[in-house]
Amino acid sequence: MTNQKPDHFNHSPVIVVKAGGAAGVDFDAICRDAAHRIAIGDQLVLVHGGSDAATSLGEALDYPARFITSPSGHSSRYSDLRTMEIFSMAVNGKINTRLVGTLQSLGVNALGLSGMDGRLLAAERKKAIISVEGGKRKVIRDDYSGRILQVNSALLRDLLAGGYTPVIAPLAVSKEGEALNVDADRAAAMVAGALKALRLVLLTAAPALLRSFPDESSLIRFLERADLDQAQEYARGRMKKKVLAAKEALQGGAAGVVIADGRVTDPVSKALEGAGTLIQ
Ligand code: ADP
Repeated sequence: MTNQKPDHFNHSPVIVVKAGGAAGVDFDAICRDAAHRIAIGDQLVLVHGGSDAATSLGEALDYPARFITSPSGHSSRYSDLRTMEIFSMAVNGKINTRLVGTLQSLGVNALGLSGMDGRLLAAERKKAIISVEGGKRKVIRDDYSGRILQVNSALLRDLLAGGYTPVIAPLAVSKEGEALNVDADRAAAMVAGALKALRLVLLTAAPALLRSFPDESSLIRFLERADLDQAQEYARGRMKKKVLAAKEALQGGAAGVVIADGRVTDPVSKALEGAGTLIQ
């Protein structure tokens, strides 16, 4: 593989789609619409989550998920080595395989990989995490979650130029080769930034970013990037990660981010045509 490609390969607009894992988000509808977009010439990269699948598998394997609350109130999965095995089985083994299979059945040459493959997502392990339990602070040192430092965008460009559609599971790799758990919204944001994507489309189980959740009449159509910090005040729960991801994608070089409904037909096309919240 070489970097000596015609200019249009290096600069053709890419759309990065993140498929949320929450109940109601319609993976089949996302794949059908992705196949349609690819057929009309879009270059697509799909990033997916899988936390709900990992939680169910943990229960089935008698190793239920535990969650850590940070001093600032954010909740995250406690990712010890056994949890990482289960997380990988769920996101690679189940969700990624399912998405690749569905896309293949629709004539898309999908290529499944996690952030470990080809050092697609290089990250550093958070070696000491502070958890607050019953008002007490505790230091956790056997957690394998990571912060993404670098994206191998050349690998994605090569795959896209070869006609493949990358489907990315949210694992990253440390310098030591450890599998690290990374947030899928933020992984998608890093990918979109590194590819200077035309759009990052964050598909979720809400119609858009709402000013007073869950009142759908408070839907925000457009948000300036300068207003993203303020938007954190009305984003709750997992929506907070999406607002942060939007900021990171724009800072990284993506041209725009859409937070849109993943429960509808043609979710990607609708998001590109004005549904949801456009952030620029
Ligand atoms: P994922 O897409 O990563 O699986 P979720 O769909 O659970 O995650 O995360 C987004 C959720 O956040 C929405 O489904 C919605 O229930 C909730 N939410 C919280 N605050 C807001 C808000 N201000 N606007 C829209 N949704 C919000």
